Order: sequence, then C-alpha cells, then structure tokens
Amino acid sequence: MTLGRFAPSPTGVLHLGNLRTALASWLSARSAGGRWLVRMEDVDGPRCRRDLGEAQLRDLAALGLESDAPVLWQSDRSATYREALADLHRGNRLYPCLCTRRDLQLLASAPHTEDGLRPYPGRCRERGWEGFDRALRLRLPDGLVAWEDRLLGVQEEDPATLTGDPLLFRRDGCFAYHLAVVVDDAAQGVTEVVRGADLRSITATQIRLQEALGLARPAYAHLGMVAAPDGSRLGKRAGALGLEALAARGVSPAEALGWLGWSLGCLDRPEPCTASDLIGAFAWAQVPKDEVRVPAAWT
Ligand code: GLU
Repeated sequence: MTLGRFAPSPTGVLHLGNLRTALASWLSARSAGGRWLVRMEDVDGPRCRRDLGEAQLRDLAALGLESDAPVLWQSDRSATYREALADLHRGNRLYPCLCTRRDLQLLASAPHTEDGLRPYPGRCRERGWEGFDRALRLRLPDGLVAWEDRLLGVQEEDPATLTGDPLLFRRDGCFAYHLAVVVDDAAQGVTEVVRGADLRSITATQIRLQEALGLARPAYAHLGMVAAPDGSRLGKRAGALGLEALAARGVSPAEALGWLGWSLGCLDRPEPCTASDLIGAFAWAQVPKDEVRVPAAWT
C-alpha cells in the first residue's frame, strides 16, 4: 500500500509552495487508496520551534490534510539516529571530519551547483576513527546514481559532484537532515517521497545512504517550485503567502485549495473546493513539471 508523507521543517509559516507539496503528496497517496503521514523535521537546532510546528499542523488541518498516524518529531529520535551511525561505523562507512567552515570555504574549488551546494572535497577521508563525538561524514562510493522520478522520469546524478561525502553528524551534537530523513522514511515505511525540485539533486546522496544502511528505496516525485508573481523565490515572503496572510486578503482555504488543485492539473480553472474533491482528478501524468507563479492579486 502507498504510504506518502509531508515532512516540513518547523522554522516558519507554510507558504503556498509548501502547501502545494503537502497537497500533492496527500493526493498521490489518497488517489492510490493509500495512507499519508506528517513528520516534523526539527533536527536543525534552535531554528526549529514546536510552536511553529503546531501552527503548521493547524494550517494543514484547515486544508483537510491530517496525518493518519501520530506526528513524529525528529528531535525525539536521537537514539535511533545514533544506532544508524553505529551501524554505518561497523561497516567502516564513516570518518571524522575536522574541517572548519572556513577550511571548507577555502577548499571549495567546484562552482555552486543548481541548489547552491558545494561538494565536500574529501580532505578528511583518510583520517582514522576518533569516536562518535566528532563531526562524521559518510564515505560515498564512486559512480552515478539513477532513479525514476514519478514526475520527471529517469534521473541520473553523481553525488560526488553535488554534495560530496555528506555530513551526517555535526560537532555541535545535531544529526544532519540526510541521516534523519533517510532513517525515518524507512522506519515509518514510507513508499513515496513527494517534495520540491530544490531537493531533487540530493536524492542521489540519500539513495547512497539508504544503500549503506540496507534500507528500501521509496518512489520519488519532485515538484516544480512555486514562485512569486515576478518569478523570484518565495522564501523571503513565506509569511505573506501563508494561510493566515491570505485570509487577511480575503482568500479562503477553499480558494487556496482551488488554486493549488488547478496548479497540480486537477481542475480546469481555480475554483473553491475541498481537498477531497480533488482526489478523483489527480494523476501524475497531468501535473505540470514547470514552476508555477502565485496570482499577483494574492501578494
Ligand atoms: N524537511 C525538508 C524541508 O522542509 C523536506 C525534506 C523532504 O521532504 O525530504 O525542506
């Protein structure tokens, strides 16, 4: 059975881009008769806040998107992530990294990738093991990773040129996003990952980590981004394009859903609806691959 998920980081208000991802993942699971989960990705220290996560859950509920299982908060999962690190260490896949942020800036020779990432050049790769209290990286094998994306078709990337050996544990004691996302998708039995195209290229690195941990690979779909009317990224204006700000401009959740459903190819034109109204009309073959822009009247 399909098990989809939406995994926001509780660092701010969910904007229309986030809500579109949530709706698409819900519709994909529901239209296949499957289940859907929400997971709070709050491993990133003080930027993540419980109250912001609770507000995100309220916004999802206002759209009719509710988790079929209790919401998992990654900050409660340290013991599980530690076990995964121990497993990787037993397989000799981890090495300590003593590089400082400044070292990494000086070492970075490759240009920025499409996602603004710089690959780690592997300076600490030959270091001997020094214990679990160091920053730890995964030793990636060479070679391309190929996967089938439900929206974009066959994808092929070389993780060495995108992330390089990913950091899985930080010196400050935080577990990295890559580790938490891969471990939890498998632990929760997630079969389908729907997320924004900004995370497409790191999929290759996450697949390598799944392989190193002996975990099953979920299906992937990476959605085109939602941009502001002028084409700029929504990031800075996130608060202005959340449900509360839209309500202040007279846009109801049903109208927001109509626009989101239309942008996902479920409706011929944006008209108010519920999330359930869209289930029968959802099909990946109809979802546009390109970026969509928020209506100018909403900004
Ligand atoms: N927590 C990530 C984010 O909010 C998404 C992770 C994922 O969907 O794999 O950007």
